[in-house]
Amino acid sequence: MFDRAAAGSGASHAAAGMLAACCEAEPGEEALVALGRDSQARWPGFADELKAASGIDVELRREGTLVLALTADDQAEIAHRLEFQRQLDLPLEWLSAAQTRAREPHLAGKIAGALLSPQDHQVDNRKLVQALRIAAETAGATIHEHRPVKEIIVQGGRAKGVAFGDGTTAAADVVVLAAGAWSRGIGGLPPDRRPPVRPVKGQMLALRMDAAAPLLNHVLWAPGAYLVPRRDGRLIVGGTVEEKGFDEKITAGGVMALLDAAWRAVPAVEELAIDEIWVGHRPGSRDDAPILGPGPLEGLFYATGHHRNGILLTPVTADAMARLVLDHVVEPAIRPFGLERFLPARAAE
Ligand SMILES: Cc1cc2nc3c(=O)[nH]c(=O)nc-3n(C[C@H](O)[C@H](O)[C@H](O)COP(=O)(O)OP(=O)(O)OC[C@H]3O[C@@H](n4cnc5c(N)ncnc54)[C@H](O)[C@@H]3O)c2cc1C
Repeated sequence: MFDRAAAGSGASHAAAGMLAACCEAEPGEEALVALGRDSQARWPGFADELKAASGIDVELRREGTLVLALTADDQAEIAHRLEFQRQLDLPLEWLSAAQTRAREPHLAGKIAGALLSPQDHQVDNRKLVQALRIAAETAGATIHEHRPVKEIIVQGGRAKGVAFGDGTTAAADVVVLAAGAWSRGIGGLPPDRRPPVRPVKGQMLALRMDAAAPLLNHVLWAPGAYLVPRRDGRLIVGGTVEEKGFDEKITAGGVMALLDAAWRAVPAVEELAIDEIWVGHRPGSRDDAPILGPGPLEGLFYATGHHRNGILLTPVTADAMARLVLDHVVEPAIRPFGLERFLPARAAE
């Protein structure tokens, strides 16, 4: 595995770790919801397997998610989306203001209620990348860090390896293109074989709660921000969604919007210390769904474009890519997500 920086330092480090297959569900995303639910079901086993392989507990917390309505307007919006979500049989339940407050007593004084999504959990994504690294190395992978791939070597119509900026190369039977938001920038491929992935900037911050008396236990989706409480007392607040390319700036406006939204939902956050502020880049594809599977070029597989759901989709991606590389089988779960959906009909043949 070659990484241009430290392995696991990209979006996977920047994320909030929400496994939100149900409350994210929007019309037009039926196939993506099915993939997300499939991956969600694989998470408990995946977390156990990772712990056995790496010794690291990725802290899969199972309190579920609350989608908070502060006003009647927020409630109407949630109710509208819920009509669609019910058609997909997603386990979601409306809670009154009193029921919501019984679960989370530190919420604002005036709320309309909340939607409970009892199966949308969370993991600590930073622990996840550490665990994956140990598990991969234990299984025999060699990780080359600070080794940017310049291009994929294509000979006789198939991928044969990768080339680096200093003129050296590495031969391979199979190349998996999994460079997140940077995937499109890797050379060697004809333009229509480069995955249509762009960076979607997100600013995030972490506040420091008392771990013994946390302000929240569920993941909370408030209007304008989500709040994710970690076991160690960190409260992750995210995330802006900005079309600004690879811009790395932390802006007053971005941080102010997140803190304002967090404060409206949980006023006591104003007492908390700010622990960290950072920026990440989601690998957004043209239809917001991942690009998974064999490409039109032999020997080249894609595992990119996971956009805002890459942590959720980790187990299904890992299982399906292993199946593909080792057994040359395209699992049914990933069939709708090939690169060919972006190619003109003739080029896809
Ligand atoms: C702010 C934010 C919040 C998010 N919250 C969530 C969430 O709550 N739940 C969820 O499921 N998902 C979330 N996501 C999305 C999730 O983080 C991503 O979909 C996922 O991490 C993508 O994983 P990846 O391995 O494809 O990309 P990355 O983790 O970005 O990894 C790509 C790697 O490729 C390397 N690379 C780049 N160019 C080259 C090159 N030329 N040669 C070699 N290596 C290269 C990079 O250095 C990097 O290490 C969030 C993302 C962001 C930014």
